[in-house]
Amino acid sequence: MTRIILLLFLIATSIFGNVVTKQKWKHGQKFTNYLQINNVSLDLLKSLDELEKQVVGDIRGGQVFYEVKDDSGKLVKSYIPISSTLQIKIAKNRTNEFRFSIIPINFKEDIYIGNITIKNSIWSDITSGTHNSNLTKKLQKALEGFLAGISKGDNIAFLYSQKSLAGFLSESPEIHIVKITKSNKEMFVYIDEEGNGRNELFESVSYVIDKPIIGKQTTKKVDMRSDAKVEKFAYPVRNPRITSHFSYGRYHPVLHYVRPHFGTDFGVKRGNPVMAIGDGVVISAGYDGGYGKVVKVQHSGGYMSLYAHLDGFRANVGDRVGSGDVIAYSGNTGTSSGPHLHLGIYVNNSPIDPMSVIGKESSPVDFILDRVADVVSTKTYETKKIPIVNASKYREMLNSRLNSGAQTYDWSSDDDTKAKLSEDDFE
Ligand SMILES: [Zn+2]
Repeated sequence: MTRIILLLFLIATSIFGNVVTKQKWKHGQKFTNYLQINNVSLDLLKSLDELEKQVVGDIRGGQVFYEVKDDSGKLVKSYIPISSTLQIKIAKNRTNEFRFSIIPINFKEDIYIGNITIKNSIWSDITSGTHNSNLTKKLQKALEGFLAGISKGDNIAFLYSQKSLAGFLSESPEIHIVKITKSNKEMFVYIDEEGNGRNELFESVSYVIDKPIIGKQTTKKVDMRSDAKVEKFAYPVRNPRITSHFSYGRYHPVLHYVRPHFGTDFGVKRGNPVMAIGDGVVISAGYDGGYGKVVKVQHSGGYMSLYAHLDGFRANVGDRVGSGDVIAYSGNTGTSSGPHLHLGIYVNNSPIDPMSVIGKESSPVDFILDRVADVVSTKTYETKKIPIVNASKYREMLNSRLNSGAQTYDWSSDDDTKAKLSEDDFE
């Protein structure tokens, strides 16, 4: 008889073992007080760093936490969530001393079923059947436009994923599929990645496509400098060095009186190539008083360029020249204090500051040959079908659970069901 009682006692111990309970932190309770009540040595606090001390101080009254106690009611472990992802763990180590640590919360994610027959109104029936108000919100979004004509006696069944901690709701659920049965007609609503309901296994997405239509192609000379209005002309010499600027009055170093300088002087040695600053026609090449040997080029737009103090000519009157073409060689002819190039630019015979229209260094590749096509862009719309991930898998899963008679998962039923809590749930 004694043996039987002893045997029963052993079985009871091994069956019940530790008990996990959900608790609420008492208002006004200090962490040290909690430790003392549970016979945890305050030595545990010595190991805490500043951040951990702060975390401990942030535990608030009413906060949910979990205790594991042995069958004699002594604390074995305590799990106190401190954020949506972390929790304090107080547990005995191998040498039977309590230790403090902060560890990640071990969420569980599972797929649950809801199977609701409408008795009053769809949303209140779903909320009271599942005790998961976030689930109702997600279903409202997913079923927008799908519930026309739904009435009492109709059925809504759905699959969803839900994160939980030790059987308690955590974060919003994710709806996978919904089956609506009204007057014996079945309809599936598949849920896309954004939580919207679709009546197909595919999600149709419209794209706008810009389609260029290539017309006839022509070869055209394209002005590389057309981007700059002001920088209309090129420099007349390579590596230009300006020695004297345009002015309406300056002291003349040779003639020793003040007179305007209708041009820009570039310091160049004798014999340096002088290039046309732009496309045009040579209208003059000869001797012109103080300017010495001069070349004049007429450009479009009323522009005329004048190159003075030249040593020799290369272009002749009437020549059509391009920007960068060598038209003469620099020198020291006319009234000049040394070899240099004087460049004058005139608009309708009035001098302007050359530097107001010169920008780029002269180069024969100011113009390039480019292929130009008449391009017309047209907008077209195309629809692409994107499969909804796991749609048919969830449909099978929902049907098989419904066939097996699975009942709506009710999240309120867990609240007081200590038997469902397991130490394994926490870490
Ligand atoms: Zn000059």
